[in-house]
Amino acid sequence: MKSLWSDREAEEFGGDLGLRVYTSRLLGRDKSLVLHGGGNTSVKIQEKNLFGEQETILYVKGSGWDLETIEPQGFSPVLLAHVLRLAELPSLADPEMVNQLVTHMRDASAPAPSIETILHGLMPQKFVDHTHADAVLSVSNTRDGDKRIREIYGKRCVVIPYLIPGFDLAQFCAKEFRRQGSTETIGMVLLNHGIFSFGETARESYERMIELVTLAEKYLDSKRAWSVPPNRFTAGTVAANAQAGLRRKLSDTAGSPLILKTVISERTLGFARHPALARISQQGPATPDHVIRTKRTPMLGGDVAGYAEGYRRYFDEHAPRAREPKTILDPAPRVVLDPAFGLAGAGRTAKDAAIVAEIYEHTIDVILRGEALGGFQALPAKDIFDVEYWDLEQAKLKKSGKALPFAGEIALVTGAASGIGKAAVAAFLARGAAVVGLDLDARIISLYNRSDFLGMSCDVTDEAQVRSALERAVLAFGGLDMLVLNAGIFTASRRIADLPTEEWRKAMSVNLDANLLLMRTCHPFLKLAPRGGRVVVIGSKNVPAPGPGASAYSASKAALNAELAAEMCGPLFAKTTGAQVPVDGGNERVI
Ligand SMILES: [Zn+2]
Repeated sequence: MKSLWSDREAEEFGGDLGLRVYTSRLLGRDKSLVLHGGGNTSVKIQEKNLFGEQETILYVKGSGWDLETIEPQGFSPVLLAHVLRLAELPSLADPEMVNQLVTHMRDASAPAPSIETILHGLMPQKFVDHTHADAVLSVSNTRDGDKRIREIYGKRCVVIPYLIPGFDLAQFCAKEFRRQGSTETIGMVLLNHGIFSFGETARESYERMIELVTLAEKYLDSKRAWSVPPNRFTAGTVAANAQAGLRRKLSDTAGSPLILKTVISERTLGFARHPALARISQQGPATPDHVIRTKRTPMLGGDVAGYAEGYRRYFDEHAPRAREPKTILDPAPRVVLDPAFGLAGAGRTAKDAAIVAEIYEHTIDVILRGEALGGFQALPAKDIFDVEYWDLEQAKLKKSGKALPFAGEIALVTGAASGIGKAAVAAFLARGAAVVGLDLDARIISLYNRSDFLGMSCDVTDEAQVRSALERAVLAFGGLDMLVLNAGIFTASRRIADLPTEEWRKAMSVNLDANLLLMRTCHPFLKLAPRGGRVVVIGSKNVPAPGPGASAYSASKAALNAELAAEMCGPLFAKTTGAQVPVDGGNERVI
C-alpha cells in the first residue's frame, strides 16, 4: 500500500483542520482501508473561545459523513476538557455519552460526533486515524490472530482484545495504552475490529497508517495469503427472471420493496462455489459495524423463509440478555450467495444495495486470506448482535422519517434522454425510485452518474436490444415495478395526402409497436413487483385534438407531464386503471 500524500494537493488545504480533511479523504479513497462511513479521524486544535480563553477542541468525524468526501463541517468540534472529564467516570451509558458530547460542542449545528470520540480524546497525539483495513482484519480474524498481530507489530502497536465500541472500550484502551505503550508506539490494533495510528502532523499520522497496514500486507504475502486466487469454475447464464423472483421474496420478507444488486464476477462466483462455503461464510462479518448493512450472515441459495426463521432464532437467543428491550429488525437477508450468480446485495435504496455488495466483496477477500493463513474466525454471534441491536441504532429506527414513496422500487422510462422522458426520470428519482432510462440517443448513458440510475442506449423497436437492456436492468436493481412508455417520434409535419408510407410505418413502429414489445418483455417482471406493476403511457394532445402541422411538442409541457407519470404510479392513483389523464392547461383547440 502506497501513501497518496501529495505536497501539491496538500497545499490547497490550509491549517490543521484543512490537512485533517485532506488526509481523511486520502484514507477514504482506498476502499481496502475504509468502506462507506467506516473509520474515523480526529485532530486536537487550540482555539480561543468567545471570552478570549484558550480551549482545546477535539475535531472528530461526525456521524453521517464519509471520509472520502468529508468537508471541514463534517467534523464535530467537541471540548476536549469535557471529553477527558467524562473518561474519568466509572461508567457511562452510550445514549448519555452521546448526549454529553453533543451538548459540549463548539457549534450547535455540527453533526453528532463519532461513537469513538472518547477514544480519540484519550490518545495523547494531535492527529488520530482509525480504519478497518482489510489486511489487518484478514490477520486478526483468524484462530491465532492475537499472536500474529503481536508478531507483526511488536512494540509499534498496542493490542486490544475485542470490546464493543463505546465508553468501556475507550477507557480500556487508555489503560492499555499506558501499560503497553512505549516511545516506539505509533498505533493500536483493536482485534476483530480495526487499527489506529497517531502522529503530531496529519501527514505523519496518515503515513503511519499506510506503514502499519503495509506490514500486515507483507506478512500475508510472506504466508502466501495475500493474492488468493479465486476458485475455478465455469460461468453459466443468469436468469433475470430468477433474480426478480428472488427480489420479490426478499421484499415480502422485509415488508417493503428492496433493491437487489447482482455482482457476477470471477471472485463472487468462485466464492459462492467454494467447497467450504457453508463454514466460512456463516461465521460473521469482517468487522462488527458491517452488520448494520449486511446482517450477520449471508443467505446461501434461495430459501428466504428458512433464512428468516434462522434470523428470528438468533434474535430470540440474544435479545433477552440486553439491558433494554429490543425491537427485531426485518428478517430478510441483505447478502445472497448463490453458485448460479455469485453475489447479490439487497437494500432499501440502490445506494444501500450497492454498499452492501461492495462491503461483501471486501469480506470475501478477508475470509479467503484468513483461510489461507490457517482459518478464518469471526467474532461470536453475541458480539455481533450487540452491535446490530446497539441502543443508538435502535433509537435511529424510531426516529427514521417516512421513506420516499418509491423507495426500493424500480421505474423504466423510454425516450428518457430528453423532454418528457428526461423529466420523468428526475420525477421518479426524486420520489426515491431507482430508474432505468432507455433512449436511442447515447447521451442517456451519462444523464446521471449515481447508483440509482442506469442509462442505456437502446432501440425500442428491436426486440433483442430491449431484452438485453431489461436483463441488465434486472441485474442492476433486481426487477421492475413501473414502466413509463414515452419514446415517440414526430416525423416532419405533413398533410395526409403527402405522407409517404415509410414515414407512417416508422412512426407506427416506434410510437405503437414498440409499446407492445416493451409491455410484453416487461410483463413477467412487472408481475413480480412487490407492490404490483404499473404502466403509464405518455400519449399526445394530438390524439383527442389533432392540430394541423402538429409541431407543438413544447418543453414546458414536458415537466408537468412527467410529474404526472410518477404520480400515476403512486398511491394517489392506486385504484385507477386504464384511465387517460390530460395534462393540457386547458384545451383550446377543441373549443
Ligand atoms: Zn471502528
